[in-house]
Amino acid sequence: MKKKLGLLYGGKSAEHKVSMQTAMAVIKALDTNKFDIYPIYISEKGEWIKGPQLTGPVENVDQLAFANMEEIQSTALSSSLFEASENNNFDVIFPLLHGPNGEDGTVQGLLELLNLPYVGNGVLASSAGMDKVIMKNIFEVAGLKQVKYTSFIRKDWQNNKEKAYQKVEQELGFPCFVKPANLGSSVGISKCTNQEELESAFVEAFQFDRKVIVEEGVIAREIEVAVLGNDDPQVSVAGEIVAKKDFYDYKAKYEDGNTALIIPAEVSEGEYNLIKKEAIKAFKALDCSGLVRADFFLTKEGNVFINEVNTMPGFTPFSMFPLLWQESGLEYSALIERLVDLALERHAEKQ
Ligand code: ATP
Ligand code: MG
Ligand code: MG
Ligand code: MG
Repeated sequence: MKKKLGLLYGGKSAEHKVSMQTAMAVIKALDTNKFDIYPIYISEKGEWIKGPQLTGPVENVDQLAFANMEEIQSTALSSSLFEASENNNFDVIFPLLHGPNGEDGTVQGLLELLNLPYVGNGVLASSAGMDKVIMKNIFEVAGLKQVKYTSFIRKDWQNNKEKAYQKVEQELGFPCFVKPANLGSSVGISKCTNQEELESAFVEAFQFDRKVIVEEGVIAREIEVAVLGNDDPQVSVAGEIVAKKDFYDYKAKYEDGNTALIIPAEVSEGEYNLIKKEAIKAFKALDCSGLVRADFFLTKEGNVFINEVNTMPGFTPFSMFPLLWQESGLEYSALIERLVDLALERHAEKQ
């Protein structure tokens, strides 16, 4: 029996475009002998648009967003998915969404209420993983090593900006990184080396969130691993990101194309084992399921600091997460099938 897979993509998030690219790759990779794919597009405004089943190959992102959608609906979110689920009787949903309103537990909550199995992390792990402050607080309790950080609410900063900058200088110093608490793909992130840069970094980050995190800047290699599983998660080989810029910003991720991903990363066995252990600790601390990509800093002295986990990491065939699994022996389409199996397993265990 073919599985009916509802693919949610796009999303009301600054990472909308990233999701579009990924959805196209996933649709191309899925074995049509095993899956019937029902694309459900979420526009940047948050409208849910249900399309008919895609029949032919998809050549570009625009086609995926609009051309195949004969029956366009932009009704209330829950009712449109509810209708879709009644009509199509989904076996599984793949919420291929990055950032707020998709990777953060909101969509996962809707799918829980509809009692539909879905790929990836549940409500708690998704929301805790999206908020870098909450995530780091949980990591702290779990005993994971990480760089110093502090956070600010927009109103407090507006009321006394000097106080905020002083706090950063006293507690963290320069360089530091200013980030919206809830985002991804490096959107809204700045590296600051002096107070002037700090001021503009706060203005930038607060455009995306009411909460901002500031972290001590570390000079280190960036090593990532992919974690896959539910109660007994497996860790891939390690990969390294070598950004040819100051840091791995949005352009370096999606536009320049000159960032090198080195897979497997040249790390010692001891370093790899430590990273692997910390990745599993992070996965369990947030009660993750399905998948995460865990991002680390590895210093010259051999210290391993966790930077973050991403509960729905970039997923094109050229993204780190699938490439790490490919190097570990799991091809792109097999990886997607494994994620579907994990979703069904998790759903069955909940019942
Ligand atoms: P994504 O979800 O796409 O991985 P993100 O928006 O969650 O990205 P981070 O991974 O936290 O952002 O940071 C983006 C990049 O900024 C890192 O890959 C790294 O290059 C740099 N960076 C972030 N924090 C620090 C830090 N504390 N010290 C040094 N570099 C940092
Ligand atoms: Mg992230
Ligand atoms: Mg992310
Ligand atoms: Mg990251």
